[in-house]
Amino acid sequence: MPATPDIAPPAKALTAPEPLPEGALLNGRRYEIVAFLGTRDGINEYRAVRTEPYKRCPHCRTLNTPDSNFCEQCGGDLKEAELVSLFVRVWEAASPDALQRERALHEKGLHHPLIAAPSEIFTDAPYDERHYAVLPEVEGTPLAQVEADDADTALAWAKELADAFAHLQTRALASPVRWQKVSCSLTTALQSS
Ligand SMILES: [Zn+2]
Repeated sequence: MPATPDIAPPAKALTAPEPLPEGALLNGRRYEIVAFLGTRDGINEYRAVRTEPYKRCPHCRTLNTPDSNFCEQCGGDLKEAELVSLFVRVWEAASPDALQRERALHEKGLHHPLIAAPSEIFTDAPYDERHYAVLPEVEGTPLAQVEADDADTALAWAKELADAFAHLQTRALASPVRWQKVSCSLTTALQSS
């Protein structure tokens, strides 16, 4: 099911800019390009790393932004925090039109661990003016390729999905009708497992 049913894709084919080399720095040296991954629909995709490490809370394991001194989750002191390199996906386009969908998603202010929404949108000029979206690097196997070990695990996944959809619904990105369909097929899948 598409995550953004209400937003149309760009109308015409767009040309991607010449890819950046490894080590290129973007957005005031905040991101460093690690690898060029490919081009699709006029968008270059890179693996990049935040140049300043994130801080993993020693008390609750929450990952905090580089500038935090106290954990946003538990309020714990981050002096002894483990420093973690945060890898992201960076999308690059010559025209802002190519990233229209990402900009719209970003403006919805989605904050949910299960929703890979863009965390940042910016414009930079490594050579010429280019437009960027930063997305989280999602780890693990797609849900379609894994099978739950038991009914409890399957139910736990269903609950997490329901939670994510509820969040999308509060941001008016998923209509109740569509969510009902997903809910029905989840129930059917669980009953037949
Ligand atoms: Zn914490």
